[in-house]
Amino acid sequence: MQCHYCEDDAAVAVEKDHVKVGLCESHLRERMDELSDSEWLEDVRSQVDEALDN
Ligand SMILES: [Zn+2]
Repeated sequence: MQCHYCEDDAAVAVEKDHVKVGLCESHLRERMDELSDSEWLEDVRSQVDEALDN
């Protein structure tokens, strides 16, 4: 999967509102900063943890 924001390969794929979004590592960090007080971040965190375990 390709990153949603650039042409890099996505490091993780997260789901938001039932839409899968790929994020490379740098964009993942960016989104995490931006979303640090949103509920979505908790979802993303758990999905990222799962992805990194594999
Ligand atoms: Zn990216």
